[in-house]
Amino acid sequence: MFSYRHAFHAGNHADVLKHTALIAVLRHMTQKDTALNVFDTHAGAGLYRLDGDYAQTSGEAANGYLKLVEALANAAKNGTDKNAPPTHPALQDYLDLVASFNKGVSHTVYPGSPFIIHNLLQGRDRDRLKLFELHPTDAKTLRANIAQLEAGRLVTVDQEDSFEALKKFLPPPSRRALVLCDPSYEMKTDYARVVGMMTDAVKRFATGTYMVWYPIIPRPEAHDLPRKLKTLAVREGRPWLNATLTVKSSKLTTDDEGEVVRPGLPASGVFVINPPHTLKATLVGALGQAAKFLAQDKNKAFEVESGG
Ligand code: SAM
Repeated sequence: MFSYRHAFHAGNHADVLKHTALIAVLRHMTQKDTALNVFDTHAGAGLYRLDGDYAQTSGEAANGYLKLVEALANAAKNGTDKNAPPTHPALQDYLDLVASFNKGVSHTVYPGSPFIIHNLLQGRDRDRLKLFELHPTDAKTLRANIAQLEAGRLVTVDQEDSFEALKKFLPPPSRRALVLCDPSYEMKTDYARVVGMMTDAVKRFATGTYMVWYPIIPRPEAHDLPRKLKTLAVREGRPWLNATLTVKSSKLTTDDEGEVVRPGLPASGVFVINPPHTLKATLVGALGQAAKFLAQDKNKAFEVESGG
């Protein structure tokens, strides 16, 4: 069994990118009243504590969501740079949504994708959210967290291998769907399985919106993934968008004792097939600010490319 637990990583810079993009996509898709099916193929535990043991051990939120909150609060307090632009609406939307899970000014709870999606589907009784989570512990926690929502038929949790299971649900009855695919890539085979799942999904349901998160790390499979997704989109004649956020260099360094220090995750991306037409402009603005505030060295960058 795999050992990845998202609790160590919740609220990191990759979550800032992924959840800001997810919110922007869903805001657009929920403008229409027609029923929507959302599939979160790698759901995680749903809710995370930023003051708990897991998050404290890794400290990743401190360089992600929490860093963003602090930087923006400082900018507002100092108000020294009168020409500084206000927080981009999409970044503010992300921050407000996360803050709504916390009381007052505390930032101890971080919502994972299932809770972010559920939040945006509230009041839309005909929508359906299907969550897949294979890890037994996280699936159990996810079920318990979801039970508290008393969401009834709106949300279902399946402890299944989503790479295999998704096909059973496409095309959805509503003919409108978002698939979020956010694996841990703990196993090298995940990269090929993502491409396989997306190829099959787009064939079954060409007009669905598909969003894949991927790490940008020095590994051939990771490097090839967005290229393969782009080939798929172009071959099937579907519009696509690829957005990346880099917060530091990917180079190995050495510490005072000469030991090699790995940089951790320096960058990640989201690849979207059939993105809302507004997404590119939204992400250019939001990621430009996020890159500035989350930079850990001078290698900060963002890129939003699209086609089709
Ligand atoms: N999407 C979540 C979020 O944004 O809050 C984080 C998900 S985490 C990166 C990936 C999750 O996928 C892990 O909890 C892992 O246990 C689960 N997982 C790994 N392989 C899976 C598979 N084949 N099917 C379903 N879940 C899987």
